[in-house]
Amino acid sequence: MTQTAAYEGKQTKAPLAAKTAAYAALSAKTPIEPFVIERRAPRPNDVAIEILYCGVCHSDIHQARDEWGGSIFPMVPGHEIVGRVTSVGSAVSKFKAGDLAGVGCMVDSCRTCVNCLEGEEQYCNNPHAVYTYNGRDKDGEVTFGGYSTSVVVDENYVLHISDKLDLAATAPLLCAGITTYSPLRHWNVGKGTKLGVMGLGGLGHMGLKFGHAFGAHVVQFTTSPNKVADAKKLGADEVVISTDEKQMAEHAGTFDFILDTISAPHDIGAYLGLLKRDGVLCLVGAPDEPLSVPVFTLLGRRASLAGSGIGGIRETQEMLDFCAEHGIVSDIEMIPIQKINDAYTRMLKNDVKYRFVIDIESLKSDAGEA
Ligand code: NAP
Ligand code: ZN
Ligand code: ZN
Repeated sequence: MTQTAAYEGKQTKAPLAAKTAAYAALSAKTPIEPFVIERRAPRPNDVAIEILYCGVCHSDIHQARDEWGGSIFPMVPGHEIVGRVTSVGSAVSKFKAGDLAGVGCMVDSCRTCVNCLEGEEQYCNNPHAVYTYNGRDKDGEVTFGGYSTSVVVDENYVLHISDKLDLAATAPLLCAGITTYSPLRHWNVGKGTKLGVMGLGGLGHMGLKFGHAFGAHVVQFTTSPNKVADAKKLGADEVVISTDEKQMAEHAGTFDFILDTISAPHDIGAYLGLLKRDGVLCLVGAPDEPLSVPVFTLLGRRASLAGSGIGGIRETQEMLDFCAEHGIVSDIEMIPIQKINDAYTRMLKNDVKYRFVIDIESLKSDAGEA
């Protein structure tokens, strides 16, 4: 396939690096297609990374199809990035050329608000973090994600990746991993906790793995009977088919904590009733429509309905180190970039076991870079 330079980015204030092959959504209604972007030339605090693998998150679909509103096109999705450092700026102290490196959902934040100062940059309120794609950096330039061959990021937003783990299977930790690890840690899920995980997709299977690793009793909820055996292999103590009212009723009033990773609108009332007194149901899934809350189900058990967004840089590194120590990675299906639209279609049919990861080598060959 020939590379089409559909978009020549406007001049940035910094000198431009070489053109970079990518895949992009040019609009909410068109498939992901070949595209060319320009990465900034590394500044003193920047790390330049050759991207090797990039995970495919359901948030990529929500944003490429503008389901949350406000999407910026052309859009190069991808925020589960792993690769190798090719060069570093003169002031960089944490990375050197040749190191493995990861980039998640954020590439910068204000660094001065209370949330940034407390290491919770994902909740930066000034006005918000600079997202890896579909965002704007401090110069107002649109950010482009990991469906591309290279990226340039300030070293404070780059993660160290262990060489002990399979590199491709590590990529999904940068979003699916931290997004599930962070709330489980925040609400002290561990030994003695009865944990429910709703949805067995990219996030759900990581929540299940972490819950199991932390010593919780994990009950996996799924709408897909063909995932039951896998859920048990992944560490679930019990599996509930959530469409079976009898199976659901057996767990009424018993959960300490439920993590909701479902990507589409669904009935949370059915799960709130499964919480114990003072139990918490935490949303990480981000459906494009508001969910309706049956208030008496909350009042009747002093329950909390909560939400959690990705995780800070410090905690993301902690999660990656925990994974390296405990041998935890994502279960992946590797795809060439040319299959990205099929991967989206399959994810929308809940047909992913359990994360697609793009082999960026396929993009390099596509663009004649290999
Ligand atoms: P995914 O791999 O597509 O998995 C979603 C799973 O949800 C599906 O596999 C399916 O599991 C279940 N599901 C889908 N539609 C359903 C429906 N109508 N009713 C009930 N269950 C349904 O998606 P993902 O990448 O894990 O992302 C999940 C959600 O989290 C997305 O909305 C994404 O945008 C969001 N997200 C949020 C954050 C954050 O910071 N909070 C970060 C990343 C992603 P079963 O087959 O087991 O039923
Ligand atoms: Zn994500
Ligand atoms: Zn901030």
